[in-house]
Amino acid sequence: MRYGSPSGEAVGYAGRRVAIVGGANSAGQAALHLAAHAAEVTVLVRGDSMDRAMSRYLVDRIEQHDRITVRTRTAVVGGGGRDRLESVAIGGPDGEETLTIDDLFVLIGAAPLTAGVEGWLRCDDRGYFVTGPDLVTGSDRSWWPLERDPLFLESSQPGVFVAGDVRHGSIKRVASAVGEGAMAASLIHSYLALDGDSRPA
Ligand SMILES: Cc1cc2nc3c(=O)[nH]c(=O)nc-3n(C[C@H](O)[C@H](O)[C@H](O)COP(=O)(O)OP(=O)(O)OC[C@H]3O[C@@H](n4cnc5c(N)ncnc54)[C@H](O)[C@@H]3O)c2cc1C
Repeated sequence: MRYGSPSGEAVGYAGRRVAIVGGANSAGQAALHLAAHAAEVTVLVRGDSMDRAMSRYLVDRIEQHDRITVRTRTAVVGGGGRDRLESVAIGGPDGEETLTIDDLFVLIGAAPLTAGVEGWLRCDDRGYFVTGPDLVTGSDRSWWPLERDPLFLESSQPGVFVAGDVRHGSIKRVASAVGEGAMAASLIHSYLALDGDSRPA
C-alpha cells in the first residue's frame, strides 16, 4: 500500500492490477499514469461522482480509458494478504466484495499539523495558518496587535512568517511552496528594516 503515486513508478506495474482510493485530481492523475502500464486500474471513490473534486479533463480521460474502472459510493473496509497486501474488501451500493490487487494507492488529501498553536497563531477552520491581508479583512483586527497591516505571509504573531502548504490559501504545489519560502526570506528582511513600533521585541 502506498501513499501518493510518483509517475516514474508506474512502469513497474506493467500487467498488474492496482486500486486507487480517492476522487480528486491526485487520484485522477495517478489512475492515468498507472493505466499506461497496468492491466487493470480500479478507482474507489467515496462520493457519488468524480465531478465534485476532479478536473473535467481528467474525468473525461478516465471515463474513456478501457483499463480504468471507477467505483463510486465505495469505500475500503478491509484488506488481506500474506506478506503483502493482496486484496481489499470494498463496500459499495451492492454490498461488500473482495478485489484482488497487486497494490493499493491512497490519495485522499492532507491535513495540516498545526495543533497546539491555537490561540497564538491564527488558524482557519481547517487548521491552516492565516497570514497577511487575510488577518485584517473587513474591520475585524482582533487577531492582529499592531497599527501597521501584516506583511504578506506574516502570521498573527508579528515577525513569524508562514510559507507553503500549511498556509491558508496557498496553492498546494511544490513550485508555490518553494516560491513562498523565497518570499518569506525577503519579507523577513523587510520586517527587520521596520522601525521599533512596527516590530515588537
Ligand atoms: C500525494 C500527493 C501528490 C502531490 N503531487 C504533486 C505534484 O505532482 N506536483 C506538485 O507541484 N505538488 C504536488 N503535491 C503537493 C506538494 O507535495 C506540496 O505542495 C509541497 O510538498 C508543499 O511543500 P511544503 O514545504 O509546504 O510542505 P511539506 O512538503 O509537507 O513539508 C513540510 C515539512 O514539515 C515537517 N513538519 C511538520 N510538522 C513539523 C513540526 N512541528 N516541526 C518540524 N517539522 C515539521 C514535515 O515533516 C515536512 O517535512 C502533492 C502532494 C501529495 C500529498
